[in-house]
Amino acid sequence: MKITTMSSNWSATVLTLFPEMFPGPLGISLLGKALQQNLWQLDVRDIRDHGLGKHRTVDDSPAGGGPGMVMRADVAAAAIDAVERKDRPLIYLSPRGAPLTQTRVRALASGPGAVLLCGRFEGLDQRVIEARGLEEVSLGDFVLAGGEIAAMALIEAAVRLLPGVLGDPASTQDESFAAGLLEYPHYTRPQLFEERPIPEVLSGGNHSEIAKFRTARAEELTKERRPDLWTLYEKTRR
Ligand code: SAH
Repeated sequence: MKITTMSSNWSATVLTLFPEMFPGPLGISLLGKALQQNLWQLDVRDIRDHGLGKHRTVDDSPAGGGPGMVMRADVAAAAIDAVERKDRPLIYLSPRGAPLTQTRVRALASGPGAVLLCGRFEGLDQRVIEARGLEEVSLGDFVLAGGEIAAMALIEAAVRLLPGVLGDPASTQDESFAAGLLEYPHYTRPQLFEERPIPEVLSGGNHSEIAKFRTARAEELTKERRPDLWTLYEKTRR
């Protein structure tokens, strides 16, 4: 697979009602170190700064009735408009969005970064989604309480692909989804664990046999667990 050159100026702007959640997990380990080294930038903005009136109101009850509250279009638009886009995609984390894939993550990592809007309550007024052309991205078919953890997941997935962030860049080349397959299983010492030995071929030092074994196991796993990926993989092989 072709590895694209990635910018080390990658920056994420996050619009949220809970800025104190950041950097959170993004501030630890390799990503945190890379953040300190300025290999990527994180800019967190409080949507409430654009709230209305004395109480800095950001939500209101749903038109047409129903439970909960909706984030106001005017408030969200003001928060969005205060951000310098710098050619970055404008993404609204939403369970109705296109499910995030490693392909989209790679595309995001090879671009200048992302501007991420985190919803809360019942979600965002539809008109701002349309008026600002927000790209809706979902973390999966389940409902979170807010977009923050989804934004963190997207950022973490993209930033670990940036040059210099991971110890060994090769680890992102044959991992799950890179070739349309789930990853092969891993083993390490001890040689024997509860009567289960490491597969013999892995200790034999024959690299082409090892590669063959790993591909076969990756194919087996994908076929068994992810028929959707398997169908796509078979198509591209033909
Ligand atoms: N009423 C909405 C859910 C709102 S959850 C619905 O049924 O579709 C509140 C916020 O959490 C959303 O605005 C969104 O920003 C975020 N969120 C919830 N689930 C998500 C998911 N699977 N992926 C990304 N963001 C999600």
